[in-house]
Amino acid sequence: MDVAANLEEIRQNIRQACANSGRDPQDITIIAVTKYVTTERAKEAINAGVTNLGENRLEGLLDKHEYIQDHATWHFIGTLQSRKVKDVIGKADVIHSLDRKSLAKEINKRSSGPAECFVQVNVSGEDSKHGISPDETVSFIRELKQYNNIRVAGLMTMAPHIKDEDQLRTVFRKLASLREMVQAEQLPHAPCSYLSMGMSNDYKIAIEEGATHIRIGSALVGSQETGG
Ligand SMILES: *Cc1c(COP(=O)(O)O)cnc(C)c1O
Repeated sequence: MDVAANLEEIRQNIRQACANSGRDPQDITIIAVTKYVTTERAKEAINAGVTNLGENRLEGLLDKHEYIQDHATWHFIGTLQSRKVKDVIGKADVIHSLDRKSLAKEINKRSSGPAECFVQVNVSGEDSKHGISPDETVSFIRELKQYNNIRVAGLMTMAPHIKDEDQLRTVFRKLASLREMVQAEQLPHAPCSYLSMGMSNDYKIAIEEGATHIRIGSALVGSQETGG
């Protein structure tokens, strides 16, 4: 399938999920996750009308950024090692994987202005997932106040790889309720307006539960170098 056709289908599903939940499709940002595919394929996504690209590794970000640059808003969605922060800053417009104080400290040090970050929460509690525990999320975000160059735009999570809709909903609802708790604190450094949740398999449910940023790889650009 070409990217434009995939995008149209995804937009249709977004409209449906928004209709189901009384939301406005304009409030949903599609991030095309291009980690599996070539720069050519990422350019196809841009040509099809995608304006946000996501990469989970520094190498992928640098490779594609060189050719696409400011034709896209860049999201770094993967685990970020502190030593790589200096290379990510200036390329990624948004970092979705802030999950520890040492990383916040490094982002703060390397940024010349407020860096837009999502705090990654390990809602499902799986060992394999990165992210801060739900119980620690509010206090972690409070403590980020000391870093002038950190702005908490929202919360991010990865749901487990399961099919059970109810279980997925529970994960997404939990993240939405954490956002409310953060917002109730009225922290100037943490407006926390957004929820980055939902991938190819679960974005419809995520939208029904409040997602504002969905990160879509395989269903949009494909999952192999060929883009298939
Ligand atoms: C790969 C990846 C995605 C996209 O996954 P798909 O299932 O292919 O849509 C989204 N978010 C993160 C953090 C990823 O690493």
